Amino acid sequence: MHRPTPELPAHLEALYVRFPFDRSWGDDPISAIRPLARDPRRAEIAGLLGATLAIGNTTAIRGAIGRLATIAGGDLATLVVPGLPPARAADLRRFRHRWIRGDQIAYLARVLARHYASGRSLEDTFLEGLEAGGFAGGLDRLARTVRADTMRASLGAPPRGYRALFPSPRDPGASPCKRLTLFVRWMVRDRFPDLGVWRRVPTGELRIPLDQHVHWIAYHLGLTGRRTRSWPAVEEVSERLRRIDPLDPTRFDFVLCHTGISGDCPKERDLAVCGPCAVRPDCRLWRGRRVAE
Ligand code: SF4
Repeated sequence: MHRPTPELPAHLEALYVRFPFDRSWGDDPISAIRPLARDPRRAEIAGLLGATLAIGNTTAIRGAIGRLATIAGGDLATLVVPGLPPARAADLRRFRHRWIRGDQIAYLARVLARHYASGRSLEDTFLEGLEAGGFAGGLDRLARTVRADTMRASLGAPPRGYRALFPSPRDPGASPCKRLTLFVRWMVRDRFPDLGVWRRVPTGELRIPLDQHVHWIAYHLGLTGRRTRSWPAVEEVSERLRRIDPLDPTRFDFVLCHTGISGDCPKERDLAVCGPCAVRPDCRLWRGRRVAE
């Protein structure tokens, strides 16, 4: 496995300090969610719906969150009721984002309405699983709750493809569960850019939402030796980042992700771009190569 230099923590810190957060904030889905997260309940609802839509490029994701907010009259919590007014239900049925359909979002909203009617938050559910089986246990409990595994009798069968939207790390296949992991990061971290409304989950427990950009750079920096995204790769990258920042291992997630999204990292050896890259000494594309000063 490729090994980074012993200076990787300092190099990551330099990447973080120099990062143009102002440029990338407006491009990130969290910038569309924050205005909708006016209280902890609304933050959970906007966060979960927004994370569910986090497929494809960030412009399309923010657009999809905006269209859903428009259908909801600016408050996504108004979708989380046992039955929607007919006009709003018809608007929601017409909603599409990539392969996600409005009937799936409507079913999720009904699942959340039923869950909240029990007096429990999604944080309560995640915590139960966390205490019983660590972070993967928390995510598994969350996935099984939103898949409505125990509510079928009262809610009816979910729409086609619904369950596949919410994989658990404990399912066969060990999905990296990027969207649910991202949702939990948004809820737990109380520092930029996250919402920090879940106060009982320690930040040090978080796992990295391993999208393709984060995985590419993590693999090339030697944070994982796994070439494919999977739950074991999530654990491996998170553990290595936890050694660098035990209290906030996902602090670098936004920077690693947007380094890829923005094109700051060309994902190939390009001296003009890679020359000033703070993590170039650790990058496997530059192993054994020197750049003239
Ligand atoms: S050195 Fe180049 S390819 Fe490697 S991480 Fe930096 S920008 Fe990306």
